[in-house]
Amino acid sequence: MGNTLKHIGVLTSGGDAPGMNAAIRAVVRTCAYHNLDVTGFYEGYQGVIEGNTVKLDTQSVSNIVNRGGTMLRSARCQEFRTPEGRQKAYNNLKELGIDGLVVIGGDGSFTGASLLSTEFEIPVIGIPGTIDNDIYGTDFTIGFDTALNTVVDAVDRVRDTASSHNRLFFIECMGRDSGFIALNAGIAAGASGILIPEESTDLNDLVEKLKKSRESNKTSNIVLVAEGEKRGDTFQLAEETQKHLPNYDIRVSVLGHLQRGGNPSCADRVLATRLGVASVEQLMAGNSSIMVGIHNGSVCTVSIHDAISRKPGLDRNLMHIAEIVSL
Ligand code: ADP
Repeated sequence: MGNTLKHIGVLTSGGDAPGMNAAIRAVVRTCAYHNLDVTGFYEGYQGVIEGNTVKLDTQSVSNIVNRGGTMLRSARCQEFRTPEGRQKAYNNLKELGIDGLVVIGGDGSFTGASLLSTEFEIPVIGIPGTIDNDIYGTDFTIGFDTALNTVVDAVDRVRDTASSHNRLFFIECMGRDSGFIALNAGIAAGASGILIPEESTDLNDLVEKLKKSRESNKTSNIVLVAEGEKRGDTFQLAEETQKHLPNYDIRVSVLGHLQRGGNPSCADRVLATRLGVASVEQLMAGNSSIMVGIHNGSVCTVSIHDAISRKPGLDRNLMHIAEIVSL
């Protein structure tokens, strides 16, 4: 292991995700374990540019493993997108004596991290934190499991009212570019249809399926729609379907930001802790420009370049399974 590392910086950036706190805690405690200093930056890259920092020690991360959001707060920072902004950020990192940075966030945050490390040769490690699970190189991102459980819980509740009134609900969940949440939650909550950006389901097929389902005396139907669905927003899709099914009582529910909140699930806490520890160990080993992730149950690494330039594929088998069980 390299022995020059003395002082690590950590930040959370982009969309927040439950489990980010558990990752911060693991970074800080791993630093303490190895006698490294650690500084937190508030509000992502904004805090690096402005020098908005907090010295972190074992005590400062007590009682956060169970909390959603991020104690370091997150922000979208336009200035960091410019070379001048990144120069300011680097100057502050140098002034503080930081010789390695851990960035917890999504692919936008990793693009920024990658630029910083190539332009200024500062070692950077990424930890995937986003509820969307849309990052290449890891089976799961921090926050995905919690968000899934939140969505499934919400759909279960909507179903109670849907069955009481014999209604068809279109429920929109998060997933701008990917249908991981919609597909998994759709299977878990027994959706009749799942509409995701990766798949161009024919609306006529969906209508036929819903008709059959009514004929088989189903009292409620749920169609889960990822917000990035390409054919239009959820209200338009519901309207279009209503034209084909005039006798159906169709309603729309948009789950929105409640999907980001809540205490992280056990799986997210454990994942975040494993990746937090791994990120510091990677810096100690002299590595840079990589993301730590999880693959087949083991911690893995992937170059940040691959993490941001490649797209994770949806499990085709899961789509097939969803088709079978939604009859
Ligand atoms: P996420 O990390 O969740 O994908 P964003 O895409 O909003 O979220 O990115 C978070 C932050 O990362 C941005 O506010 C910006 O500071 C930085 N960032 C994103 N894209 C770039 C880029 N192309 N160049 C430099 N910094 C970037």
